[in-house]
Amino acid sequence: MEPNNAEEIFRPLLDRSFRFRCYKEISCFTRCCAALNLQLTPYDILRMKNRLGITSGDFLDQYGETVFEGHSRFPMVRLRMQEGAQKRCPFVTSSGCSIYEDRPGSCRLYPLGRAAMKVEARNTREKYFLVQEAHCRGFDENREWTVDEWMKGEGVSDYNEMNDLWLEVLSLPKGLGPEKDLPRKLQMFFMASYNLDKFRSFVFEGPFLRRFHVKEELLERMAEDESSLLRFSFHWLKFSLYGEPSAVFNRGDS
Ligand code: SF4
Ligand code: SF4
Repeated sequence: MEPNNAEEIFRPLLDRSFRFRCYKEISCFTRCCAALNLQLTPYDILRMKNRLGITSGDFLDQYGETVFEGHSRFPMVRLRMQEGAQKRCPFVTSSGCSIYEDRPGSCRLYPLGRAAMKVEARNTREKYFLVQEAHCRGFDENREWTVDEWMKGEGVSDYNEMNDLWLEVLSLPKGLGPEKDLPRKLQMFFMASYNLDKFRSFVFEGPFLRRFHVKEELLERMAEDESSLLRFSFHWLKFSLYGEPSAVFNRGDS
């Protein structure tokens, strides 16, 4: 029977192991890379825009689609599929993914899915499940994996670490303040989460460093390493959205 609803497609991983193999000669090769509702995280965008050698603004213009679904308060960005009946991913080719080493975290994890939630700051509860789609023949193969083996092989840990830091921003149990401030806050959320090149200009080229003090070593790291800049943007968001004090910057006059 072909899976035809969410319960049949998403299967629990009872003993954290599964049987699966994906390879170029398999009959369904790249069929999974079409008609996707593929939500991108800030770290996905960082990796993809660098892979493509374009700015985050250009990436969002060319490949992003802003949607107000998937989160109750904040806009999400999903990867825009190509026009046409098949709605193929813009990065799929006959020989596979053209950005393979920098493909999004959810593509790396597939056929696993990960549900994560913050139980308290720095403490994430996670659960893995199988995404078993009818067209995917990989489940007919005999290779056995544990979740840990799969994650190691697919290079998922950097993605999970960065995504969990972002999850802290998304799920902080605090209000966003007065209604009148919401448009400005949502714009800030969008820039600091998804448009890292613009956020860099916001920090280094505007009045930010006159208003806030950031240690010199951290500024140097942020200037050289975009992952550090992205971590900083999460601190900034917790402060600017919720008023959460930060350990990595303080007001210049304090
Ligand atoms: S459908 Fe499944 S087996 Fe086929 S290419 Fe995609 S992941 Fe691999
Ligand atoms: S990014 Fe790569 S792996 Fe992910 S859907 Fe597109 S082609 Fe497939």
